[in-house]
Amino acid sequence: MGKKTNKLPREKKQKKRYISVATKWLSLVALTITVSFLVFSVVIYFLISNQLMGQEQKITRNTVDLVSKNLSTIDKELTVTNVVTTFSPATKAKIEGTARSEVSSGEKEDEMFSDSSFSSLTRPDLAMMVFNRKHEVVFATRTIDDEYNFLEKEKTSLETKKGKTHLTISQAIVSDKTGKVTGYVVVQNQMNDYNAVLSQLRNWMFGIALVAILLTILISYAIVRSILRPIKLMSKVAKEVDDAPEATDRIPELNTNDELSDLTTTFNQMLDRMQGYIDQQKRFVEDVSHELRTPVAVIEGHLNLLQRWGKDDPQVLDESINASVQEISRMKHLIQEMLDLTRAEQIEILYPDEVTKVNSVVEQVVENLQLVHPDFKIKLDNDLKTDTLVKIYRNHLEQILIILLDNAIKYSTDRKEVIVSVSSDLLEFHMSVQDFGEGISSKEVDKIFSRFYRVDKARTREKGGNGLGLPIAKKLIESYNGTIAVESVEGSGSQFKITFPMYFEQI
Ligand code: ADP
Repeated sequence: MGKKTNKLPREKKQKKRYISVATKWLSLVALTITVSFLVFSVVIYFLISNQLMGQEQKITRNTVDLVSKNLSTIDKELTVTNVVTTFSPATKAKIEGTARSEVSSGEKEDEMFSDSSFSSLTRPDLAMMVFNRKHEVVFATRTIDDEYNFLEKEKTSLETKKGKTHLTISQAIVSDKTGKVTGYVVVQNQMNDYNAVLSQLRNWMFGIALVAILLTILISYAIVRSILRPIKLMSKVAKEVDDAPEATDRIPELNTNDELSDLTTTFNQMLDRMQGYIDQQKRFVEDVSHELRTPVAVIEGHLNLLQRWGKDDPQVLDESINASVQEISRMKHLIQEMLDLTRAEQIEILYPDEVTKVNSVVEQVVENLQLVHPDFKIKLDNDLKTDTLVKIYRNHLEQILIILLDNAIKYSTDRKEVIVSVSSDLLEFHMSVQDFGEGISSKEVDKIFSRFYRVDKARTREKGGNGLGLPIAKKLIESYNGTIAVESVEGSGSQFKITFPMYFEQI
């Protein structure tokens, strides 16, 4: 029992988890889109933020420089009075009691920072403070919340509080005259525009990414579904045919005119063909068993007869032995024909490069059959040029001609004459075998090339036919890219016509 429990996890591990193609595809698409969008967004975000930050730093730096340049004219330590009078010449004039008209004729003489360079200080997000050497505030446009631990010679700091970034620059003010530190200036930029733009950018990017990913997943899902539908159907039909090979289920035709519709058609054709082979095989086995049953039954009957009385009756003994020998030779013939038929299926593999000079083969076969059937007149009508070459194995050409001549003789009636004609044109070799015998009715003529088909079973059996001669001939001819056709009139005779492509020697 312990062993069993030990085995379980390993077995579980070996069995791979089933993940549908749709899941795999969608995960891949979502991941690709997310990563690409993330990289793209980060790059854009940093480019924009760097650009904006550069601008803000420039403004802040300029303000610090301007203030410190103005205040560097003061020699002593910075005080409220000397700082204010520096920034506002009008105040200075008032303190010194100078006439209004003498100081300035402009309208803004009372305003602080009348220098247009100070315009940045009017920005609501910019604060400026001036300190004396003891770090006491002597001037401020707005208050800076931070601790004043930044009062050094020069310092730039960037801080983020509650998602908002602000920039602070502090600098010591040095008197132009004495070269001594008289105080400090601190400018803090809350960077409202910068923070607002970046926050908007982040929101937009997040929103667009979300919509893009959702949309891609939806579209991909629709595409994957439409691709998977016929594949799922295919798998279902394949399973059904696997369970029951005779099942007639097929995949419904797709009219999409693409690889999938091609695959569906090929798959259906493959199933048709496979079932065709199965049927053919089944029929063949049935036919063979049926064909063998008669001779076996005849032999069995004779042996029973011999067992009961025949042993002592020389006449019965003689008759039974003769009949059995005849049936056995018929069986031998049948087995040979079945073998020939099976071999004819593999011609392309067994004899790929055989070429035959047809003249001599035809002459020889006609001569031999004439010798065997002296009561027949077998005429050869030869229109061939010497050395006509056809791509066929010599024995197979002989076999085809023998099958046709044999039939012509077998099914001849009063007129014992057979005409064999051979000729050729530029592309083809033609051969025909004509008899003047019983002929074949138009109803039967299409069936005579089917295995074991005989027009008149009983009579053909008398003549030793198994209904395999023509199927063997047809298979052989087609294996060498030839054709066979028949013209027949019942009661008047038949003509079998064969063609093969001519063979041209390569120079
Ligand atoms: P078999 O061995 O019975 O002759 P084949 O396949 O050669 O088998 O021929 C099939 C059937 O076609 C024959 O049984 C016969 O009825 C018919 N047939 C073939 N050749 C001829 C012919 N020359 N004249 C009339 N009938 C023919």
